[in-house]
Amino acid sequence: MRIHLLRCGSMRVSPAVAFGDRISLGNTARELFASDGKRVELPVFCFLIETPRGPVLVDTGWCREISPAGLYDPKAAASVLPGYLSAFYRPLLPPGQAIHEQLAARSLRPEDLSAVVLTHLDPDHVAGLRHLQGAKRIILPEDEYFWSCRAVYKARQPQRLWLPFPMERPYYRGSSLGPNRWAIDLFGDESLLLINTPGHTDGHASVLLRSGSRYAILAGDAAFSPRNWREDITPGFGFDREQQRKSLRWLREREADPSCAAILCSHDPALQPGVLDF
Ligand SMILES: [Zn+2]
Repeated sequence: MRIHLLRCGSMRVSPAVAFGDRISLGNTARELFASDGKRVELPVFCFLIETPRGPVLVDTGWCREISPAGLYDPKAAASVLPGYLSAFYRPLLPPGQAIHEQLAARSLRPEDLSAVVLTHLDPDHVAGLRHLQGAKRIILPEDEYFWSCRAVYKARQPQRLWLPFPMERPYYRGSSLGPNRWAIDLFGDESLLLINTPGHTDGHASVLLRSGSRYAILAGDAAFSPRNWREDITPGFGFDREQQRKSLRWLREREADPSCAAILCSHDPALQPGVLDF
């Protein structure tokens, strides 16, 4: 199986986003609006998977409109995101890195994708949906959709970025896999599973890809880098720290499994664009 690691821009955020651990609501505002010098630039990765059933894209990154010239543009960002989210993320998307631009560079059109899988509804994962009209299937776990109407998610996951796009919303079902033993088997052959790894959001999915006896995991935002599970540091701004820790524990166990070829996080600064075969 081949995974293309596509960097779809960056976000300049508080270090607490990746390693917030016990960050509390009391200091959230300070962390949210940290000055530029205190911020870190984290990549925003999407993953294009070559499967026997055609190409599958996991997440969509930022959209071109958020960063027309490839730089952080507060005015442009605020035309796509509410002002507080634009200030939180400081998104930037260099030329050529929008998802449709990267697909075109590989001679792919959105309609060539067998499926677009969304790990969750935060804007850095769904803003690029507008560039993917024509994709055959857009898949989102029903649990993620269900909680998106709750006030706190509504503030964080602006509906206009994803509600207009028709989605299939399968339910997680009982499974032998994952921290909560909940999974969605996309093709019915266990080659591509959405594993519920909650904590960052309730319905959050990591994607498990199987090739023969080996597998790889696209962890989404269950972790921001291997340091999260190796040192048991939860990322900040999650909704349920205990669930986050449970998901990190599951990732730690997977890493120790010789059958696990790789675990890739959406915002790991150590990831480089390229190809992973396993
Ligand atoms: Zn994210």
